[in-house]
Amino acid sequence: MKIEEVRSTAKAQRISAHSHVKGLGLDDNAVPLAEAAGLVGQEEAREAAGIIVDMIRSKKMAGRAVLLAGPPGTGKTAIALAIAQELGSKVPFCPMVGSEVYSSEVKKTEVLMENFRRAIGLRIKETKEIYEGEVTEITPHETENPIGGYGKTVSHVIVGLKTSKGNKQLKLDPSIYEAIQKEKISEGDVIYIEANSGAVKRQGRSDAFATEYDLEAEDYVPLPKGEVHKKKEIVQDVTLHDLDVANARPQGGQDILSMLGQLMKPRKTEITDKLRIEINKVVNRYIDQGIAELVPGVLFIDEVHMLDIECFTYLHRALESSLAPIVIFATNRGRCTIRGTEDIFAPHGIPMDLLDRLVIVKTSPYNKEEMLKILRIRAKTEGLVIESDALELLSETGEKTTLRYAVQLLTPSAVTAKINGRTSITKNDVNEVSGLFLDAKSSAKLLSENDSKYMK
Ligand code: ATP
Repeated sequence: MKIEEVRSTAKAQRISAHSHVKGLGLDDNAVPLAEAAGLVGQEEAREAAGIIVDMIRSKKMAGRAVLLAGPPGTGKTAIALAIAQELGSKVPFCPMVGSEVYSSEVKKTEVLMENFRRAIGLRIKETKEIYEGEVTEITPHETENPIGGYGKTVSHVIVGLKTSKGNKQLKLDPSIYEAIQKEKISEGDVIYIEANSGAVKRQGRSDAFATEYDLEAEDYVPLPKGEVHKKKEIVQDVTLHDLDVANARPQGGQDILSMLGQLMKPRKTEITDKLRIEINKVVNRYIDQGIAELVPGVLFIDEVHMLDIECFTYLHRALESSLAPIVIFATNRGRCTIRGTEDIFAPHGIPMDLLDRLVIVKTSPYNKEEMLKILRIRAKTEGLVIESDALELLSETGEKTTLRYAVQLLTPSAVTAKINGRTSITKNDVNEVSGLFLDAKSSAKLLSENDSKYMK
């Protein structure tokens, strides 16, 4: 049994809160629709985001980045994700929070670099040629056992194929001989052979056969009758970080990722700058050869004011790289000190020279109707049934506190509903849970009112 690496689920969970967001919801004239693609309201920011998407597509964003500025819970993450989706369905989206860079084990710049590489995709195209034809001959070629002794071994097998474009002779790997024997393939059978793979599949055979011989079932689409061979393009999307990981811990195997994991034939190692440089070289070569295509994604850095001057210096330089994703910062701070400096104040705590390179988009709080619509979408996405007065109450709560708090009350409300034997959330459920869980503002108020009772 193989012990798999345990992957962190934090990023997946962070994205799943926004699973209803499918795009910016703009019409043909790039004007935001009141409610579309999962997004509600926030029209100005969405329109601005649409222009940014155009700038990215026309390659006018190189060396620049985006800043979404607005109060918490105004959809900054949702909009950043929508931008990634507008750029294409397989465009990577990597969310992180500024404070993530502070760890006792990993350097700050290392954390940033890793996230940068999670946000850069690579689409690898592999073309396979598949032959279909009737078997006219099977000739195993035997040679003397190379280690001496008795007996002969099959060195290769020639398979003659009658195809509609004439007769073909394919020289295949000896393992195919075993397959041919096992499957009792004989002259007159129709088979599919993937060029250069030593693989065979007989018409109508189960996928188990393909699996046993290390083939991917999907490589074996039965070809339409009469067509002799066809190029089939297999596309695999990976991120540069996937390549780093695969090469740091090579596993061996035949799937694309394992093969790419043997690019440098390294032993087990850490992901180092040296390894990354080597990977970049191979990646650039693949791009030049047309085997791979770069898919720059979106790196979303929330609470950007938590980054310090060292991180900003690093980011500024990284933005210039030819392998850079689109970076979207978000903040809810106005003027504050730049972390890591004593007394340098700057808007959003971002150094002026970086600020100069930012396209800034403002987000504003939602009104009650918008909150109601968002809550309704979220309930539906999470598969929850909620009564209309409960939804009304929840959106009022959102107006008094934040949208995030209101959205977060959905799940516990569903739990209380279930405990009470109901399948739909009622007003009572909402009342009950909002009494049990505090929103940030009430919690802070409570703390300050009872200041003397807490430890200092
Ligand atoms: P911010 O990053 O500004 O704090 P956010 O995008 O993280 O905001 P949350 O405060 O987490 O938003 O909002 C709670 C939920 O509401 C999330 O599921 C988010 O996707 C959703 N949401 C926020 N804005 C919109 C919007 N304009 N349309 C639809 N859903 C939205």
